[in-house]
Amino acid sequence: EWQDEMLGEIQQGRVISRYALHADIEGHNREVFRCNLRRTVSNLVVGDYVLWRAGHQQLQGISGVVEAVQPRKNVLSRPDYYDGIKLIAANIDKIFIVSAMLPHFSSNIIDRYLVVCESLGIEPILVLNKVDLCEENERQEVEQLFDIYRNIGYQVLMLSTQSGENMIQFTELVSQGCAIFVGQSGVGKSSLLNYLEPHLGLPIGAVSENSGLGQHTTTVSRLIRLKCGGEVIDSPGIREFGVWHLDSNTITNGYREFQPYLGGCKFRDCKHLDDPGCMLQQAVEQGKIHPLRFENYHRLIVALDENKAGRHFV
Ligand code: GDP
Repeated sequence: EWQDEMLGEIQQGRVISRYALHADIEGHNREVFRCNLRRTVSNLVVGDYVLWRAGHQQLQGISGVVEAVQPRKNVLSRPDYYDGIKLIAANIDKIFIVSAMLPHFSSNIIDRYLVVCESLGIEPILVLNKVDLCEENERQEVEQLFDIYRNIGYQVLMLSTQSGENMIQFTELVSQGCAIFVGQSGVGKSSLLNYLEPHLGLPIGAVSENSGLGQHTTTVSRLIRLKCGGEVIDSPGIREFGVWHLDSNTITNGYREFQPYLGGCKFRDCKHLDDPGCMLQQAVEQGKIHPLRFENYHRLIVALDENKAGRHFV
């Protein structure tokens, strides 16, 4: 145990890695200190701003102690079988939702992430990576698909870490604030991070033949300061978090273009599925809501109901 007289002044810091019993805290001069945690800060997570004190000397390789967590702007979490809720990262400014034509493209997955972004008030940026693989006609198709998202106000970026397309624009976007990259395994998240920080040397493309899952695992969550100026938080939990802890209201509110039509339905408890007098349905028919988004919405709601029926913690 750290006694008061063994510790210096209270100072501000940032959690750049979280381990089971410790955290790496970055002080104001960017120096990193491995710290113990007071019992009251046991739910500390990477990205947290903290109050901490450095020890006058190290104790068994530990250089200080975290006293308190500062209020969070937001926190990403997921349901956890043992802990109830597991925190993944805090104080995120931007979520890059990365897709690619390979392994396969899914607007449904994009929509899931968008719902999470909307519920947390975090700015999403839709990335389609590997555009170098697109034939000319394919390129037109995906542009049209992403127009659905552009038209409802989301920023879209067509990228290729291979050909360099739009990578300068990408760098500009990550150069401010704290970002995370999410998306299926194999879409190129590690490649994007390696492009920004080649010295990280993240393993690329190890998609296992057997499981179809990427083999590379970042074993610990960490905040990476980019030389372009921004920050990226990387952790295994971040890469593919689900939406299962969201309720149906949050999902409905997570479709931003639905908002003007909610509340106008004939029935107060309208589920917006095939209920009569549904204003959303009408908006789809009038071309004001894209059918693909409405279809994805249904899939999300149905999946949520199935999940409630017993398939927890997917
Ligand atoms: P992650 O699982 O999302 O981190 O994906 P990786 O970064 O490991 O990349 C998966 C595979 O996609 C690797 O074989 C990469 O070389 C490849 N890849 C990444 N970016 C591009 C790109 O822009 N174009 C092409 N053709 N392949 C890419």
